[in-house]
Amino acid sequence: SCGICVVKCPFDAIEIINLPEELDEEPVHRYGENAFALYGLPAPQEGTVTGILGPNGIGKTTAVRILADEIVPNLGAYDTGSDWDAVIDEYRGTDLQTYLEDMQHGGITVARKPQYVDRIPNQFDGKTRELLEGTDERGVVDDLIDRLSIRPIVDQEIGTLSGGELQRVALAATLARDADFYFLDEITPYLDIGQRVSAARLIRDLAANDRSMLVVEHDLAVLDLLADTIHVAYGEPGAFGIITDPKSTRQGINEYLSGYLENENMRIRPEAIEFEQHAPRTASMGDVLIEYPDLVKSYGEDEFSLQIESGTIRENEVLGVVGPNGIGKSTFAKLLTGSIKPTDGALETHLDIAYKPQYIEIDQPMRVDSFLASITDQFGSSYWETEIGQPLQLERIMEQTLTDLSGGERQRVAIAACLSKDADLYLLDEPSAHLDVEQRVLATRAIRRYTENHDATALVIDHDIYMIDLLADRLLVFDGTPSMAGHATPPVGMREGMNEFLGNLEITFRRDQRTARPRINKPESQLDREQKAAGEYYYAV
Ligand code: ADP
Ligand code: ADP
Repeated sequence: SCGICVVKCPFDAIEIINLPEELDEEPVHRYGENAFALYGLPAPQEGTVTGILGPNGIGKTTAVRILADEIVPNLGAYDTGSDWDAVIDEYRGTDLQTYLEDMQHGGITVARKPQYVDRIPNQFDGKTRELLEGTDERGVVDDLIDRLSIRPIVDQEIGTLSGGELQRVALAATLARDADFYFLDEITPYLDIGQRVSAARLIRDLAANDRSMLVVEHDLAVLDLLADTIHVAYGEPGAFGIITDPKSTRQGINEYLSGYLENENMRIRPEAIEFEQHAPRTASMGDVLIEYPDLVKSYGEDEFSLQIESGTIRENEVLGVVGPNGIGKSTFAKLLTGSIKPTDGALETHLDIAYKPQYIEIDQPMRVDSFLASITDQFGSSYWETEIGQPLQLERIMEQTLTDLSGGERQRVAIAACLSKDADLYLLDEPSAHLDVEQRVLATRAIRRYTENHDATALVIDHDIYMIDLLADRLLVFDGTPSMAGHATPPVGMREGMNEFLGNLEITFRRDQRTARPRINKPESQLDREQKAAGEYYYAV
């Protein structure tokens, strides 16, 4: 087993079987000779949330730009171009016909939330309230501020907001517009699980109000909650992309995880991504890496205060760190690195710690290969390639400049830089951000393999519950009142940890009958009530 298909890998070897090939028909759009071509388009529908599920570079943004009337698709005729009438002719009799006709007659307005919210401060100088009032075409900003819990920051300068705050402000600014068609490119980066679920429910409520929503989302538990139907996008990133007809969300995600699209009769990945029905058995534990006592860290008199119960971290383990934003997870990490001192309790560590921060700042005008070579002399060795370069798919971006990288590329370089260091403890803060589903699986595998092969320990803070499930051996759970007081219990096994963590959030998961994939229960549904009564929030039997 490769460590990912934890139940049973249906394919003995990782072997490419019948990878998707470019279609034998004209695409909707081709950027140029031998350039990227897109086949098929998603169909936005009034009153529904439509999801697109697929890797980065597969044409999702291209499709949206077409639906937003920013690109007139050329139907493959990249030298002569095409016109809307010809395109509408192509789609006559399909769900898209009405949408395209309305759009062409100017009857469609589009609001779009950008993917990289970190860039908003470069484009807007002012306070949160000013930004939101500027887009409040529906007069709903106050409601959105409450539902997205951004009241405490409305008078703050945009330039001082954290990524999670910017993400919610961007969402509020987009949803406040009076549009027919809303396009939301990733809503989850930097948000904690509670915030992800609130954002998903808000978007659903707005769709119910006769709007069309199109969302790109790589957190599958959230996509599942968010979308009514999904289109899977597959192909060869950077070369061509094919967008399927809509599938029910459950079926689409199941097929995607299984690696096989049924209607299309197409294998898109050699192996399935599978989940364990029951909590993993406690793995054989390595030696103790660090034993820490009860600790307290307070910032100032009335500011944030964190209480940590004593615990042990072992060699060889991946310790998942979960809890809401602003609860002290990074503070704990800094206590471990010794960069801050506890207010109470003594922590003597002589550990070498490699740290990947949540917000990645690698903006030097330097090539990826030079940057990585500056971190380790192992760079380029066959060992480095096998352990780090290949699993993180870095080959294709080695010659690019750091400043030109997309969010997912930057994330992979930052993970590689962290794992390339010689350290006792690898601390990764939200490695899933901006990675697509395949990349999350590959990053998971790289981190696991690396810790196993090097007797290293990884502490991984992440809010993607599927990634945490696949990645972690044990959990360190934080709880409390964000920005006021945090509390951490000692690391525990997966079942106990998930119950503690999800119990705080009052979110239960059921299992998809066919694939055992965890799915968020409707609050107050029968299963939700039964599981809460039994105290089984995640690995329910
Ligand atoms: P996604 O949103 O799925 O990440 P995109 O639609 O942004 O994918 O891009 C798909 C492919 O099209 C990429 O390889 C990208 O480099 C290419 N591409 C995007 N815009 C252009 C353009 N204006 N000219 C040529 N190629 C482009
Ligand atoms: P998390 O990593 O769980 O999001 P953090 O440990 O970053 O949480 O922060 C917990 C709380 O401590 C937040 O309210 C944050 O604003 C506050 N905080 C973090 N660093 C400092 C500091 N140096 N001075 C004062 N407050 C801080």
